[in-house]
This record gives sequence, C-alpha cells and structure tokens, in this order.
Amino acid sequence: MSRRALFAEEIIAFQHGEHRHLRGGCVITEGDRVVYVGPPVDLGEDVERHDFGPAFIAPGFIDSHAHLTSAPLDRTTVEDTGKPQFWFTSLAELLPAMTRAMRPEDERAMADFSVAELIRSGTTTVMEIGWQGDHVADTAERAGIRAYVAQGYGSAKWRTPDGRRMVIDWKEDDGFDGFHDACAFIDRVDGRANGRIRGYLSPMQVAMVSPALLAATRAEAEARDCPVALHTSEAVFEFREMVSREGMTPIEWLEAQGFLSERCMLGHVIFTAGHSWLNYPGRDLEILAAHGASVAHCPWVFARRGYVMESFARYLDAGVTMCLGSDTAPQSLLKQMQYGAVLAKTVERDSRRATAGQMFDAATLAPARALGRSDLGRIAPGAKADLTVWRLDGFSTTPSRDPVRLLVHSAEPEDLRHVMVDGTWVMRERRLTQLQEATVVAAARRAAQRVWSRMGDGPAALDILSAPTLRPFA
Ligand SMILES: [Zn+2]
Repeated sequence: MSRRALFAEEIIAFQHGEHRHLRGGCVITEGDRVVYVGPPVDLGEDVERHDFGPAFIAPGFIDSHAHLTSAPLDRTTVEDTGKPQFWFTSLAELLPAMTRAMRPEDERAMADFSVAELIRSGTTTVMEIGWQGDHVADTAERAGIRAYVAQGYGSAKWRTPDGRRMVIDWKEDDGFDGFHDACAFIDRVDGRANGRIRGYLSPMQVAMVSPALLAATRAEAEARDCPVALHTSEAVFEFREMVSREGMTPIEWLEAQGFLSERCMLGHVIFTAGHSWLNYPGRDLEILAAHGASVAHCPWVFARRGYVMESFARYLDAGVTMCLGSDTAPQSLLKQMQYGAVLAKTVERDSRRATAGQMFDAATLAPARALGRSDLGRIAPGAKADLTVWRLDGFSTTPSRDPVRLLVHSAEPEDLRHVMVDGTWVMRERRLTQLQEATVVAAARRAAQRVWSRMGDGPAALDILSAPTLRPFA
C-alpha cells in the first residue's frame, strides 16, 4: 500500500485528547489512514514525499448541517428579507416559494455545485438533509467527499394561508411512507465507497413529526446504529406552536417522548428557554446536556435575519456538544466559525468567550464525537486521512503565529491549496480532481435562473419577496 509523507511548517495534530500545534513536522498516510504524525522521521523506501513549505496541515472540517440541493439559492435572495409577524424567518414565505419552483434537475445541479463549494472551503465530511439522496450519494462518491446523507421525511407540512399566520397540514399516512423510503435509501447507499457514504435519518422538523413517527425513527436509528437529525427550536413561531400545542418547549417535548440521546444532531436550537425573544423560562440546555444530544449550530443563516443563539458559550458551559453547520450559502465552515465566535462574544460582552479553539473543535472533534467517529476530525495515527493544506504566504494568512486563530478569523477559501479525503487527493493546487468546476458552476447558474423565473410575477415572485438592492439602470 502506498505511503505518503506530507511535510509543512506547521501541523494541527491530535495528541492527548486534544488538538496540538506541531511545528516542522510530518504526516504519514498509508491507504485511507494516517499512520504517523510528529517530528520528521526516517522514511525508508517506497514513500511519496510532499513538502508544502510555508503551509500548515489541518484536519478537514465536518459540516454537521447542510442542504446541498437548495443552499446555493439563498445567495443574494434571502439577505435583507423577512416579516416581523414571522419573527423574520424565511421559513414562512420565501423558502417555500423557492422550493415550489424547483425541479429535481435543479436540485441535482445545486447538489453538484454544493459538494464542490464544500471541498473548496475545507469541508471533508458533510451531513446532508434533503430530497435527492441517491443523486447526492452518487455525486459525493464521485467527488471524493465523505458524506452522511439523509432523505428527509415528516408527518406534516407548514404553510401560511394569508401571509399572517402559519398552519400545519398533517399527512394521512403520518409520514410513514417517507420514513420507509428513507430506510430503503439507507439500505441502498450505506457503506459505499470504502464507507465514505453513509445513510442516516431525519424526520425534518420537531413541530411536524408525530410521536409515532418519532418513536419509529428512534428505534430504527438504534437498530441501524446511525445518527438522527432534527430541526429544533429554529423559529419563534415553531416554539410557540409547541408551547401552545404540547404545553412544553420543543426540547422538553423531545425529552418527554424519550427521543433525546447521543444519536441526536439537533439543527439550530436557537430559541431555547431563556432566549430574550421568548421570555419563557426553563431548563432546555440542562436537558440537552443530560441526554448527550448535540447541536448543529449555523450562526450565519440566523444572524443575517437579526437573531442569534444566546449563546454558544453558555451552551458549552451547560455541557452541550456544540457542532457547526453551514445550512445556507456560503457553504463554508470558515465563515461559520468566525460568525459563531464573534456573535457569542457580542452576546456575552466578553472577548474571552467562544474562543477560536472552541469554534475549531465545533468544526472537527465535536461532530466526530456526535457521529461516534474517533477516526474523524483529527490528525492522529489510526484516523482517516481527511486533511487540508493551507498556504501561510497568502495575503490573508501573513503573518501568523497561531493556525487555529488564522482559520477562524483570517483565512479565506482561496488560501486552501490541497484537500485529501480517505487518503485520496480531491483537490490539488486549488483544483478539484474529480469534478469539473466550470461545468458545475455553469449548471448551477442555469438552474438558478430557471427556479427564479418559475416564481413568476405574482405575489410569490422573487422580486416581491426579495426586492433587489438596486433599481434597474434606465
Ligand atoms: Zn436545515
């Protein structure tokens, strides 16, 4: 099996249970694994050497919450929009209108673009929730990224009949047809590509899943030993729906259903008891910590609508496993780490909180723990060879004395030079090795034009829901 030795000025290496700063070291990989990290050693024969010089090697990011088939469409459409009566979420009007205008071929074009965007910003493992599971699994396999893919399902759908309130339409089959499809999907893809492609479960949204479907999901996840993703406490109207319907917060209700466990990757969890927009007391954070449930925190998608988690630092203090996800455009954990840190510092009015180290852990070690993967999110002997090589002589990376702060607060995707997943280079010299970049970009541009034009010129037209910044030049 071929061995590679990677040399760089600096390496973020895993030692004694944490990331450490290794200067002037090397990483040796063999097949899909790291076999050595440390000071340079005598390599012997039959070793492929790569000396990256002024660069640092870091573990690839784990994006714990992504929607590959739709996220790119948020770019230049969602910003500056929202209505006070929906507490500014775009779940009520803009996103449903865009979703209605999408066709499967558009979703597939977006998924291909998304996988390229993720790799180009340092993500080597992604947890996808969506509707084109087979295509996403195929693209992920081809592109070389590691992917956990969930085919979404649920017991109900929400909509607004009048632009003023939300109603929930429950399905006759309670969502079990979709659940069985999701299980069959896992059977089809799980373990493909040397285990790089994994299936998992997502009943989508806490306010739109019945107790029966939730119980079936939990039992299935245990039988399959797979994670479960659920959007929870992501909007004020959802929190109020749960409180009025169940007399409990979404988190309290999940606990009462016996659903919470270390398998749970709860998306967002912004509006928990004690949040200033709710004025509702409770023990949500303690409940999450007691059951070992993880949070996929996606700061940017909410911050651009004017609300924040209160706060990332306090969730960590409570003992909650905090992970980061992209959820929207841009699909870059660099941006999520920086927004996560800055927003938490601002909420806490304390510059010492939400450190770069904590944000970096939330993009590496914490999601690996949530996935039950001690072989991901780190550079250590026995871990998967999922790693990234960043230049140290770029304008955004010069000078540097701390590679973690550099990643969180300064580095740009353009500073990323090479990406390896499962021991294979999936990006070299900033070019994807398995995807045609020009092709996926052109296809995504065409798909967006189709979707936006299909939204028509009525009340759901894009220019009505999201007025352009500039008037046309006449
Ligand atoms: Zn989501």
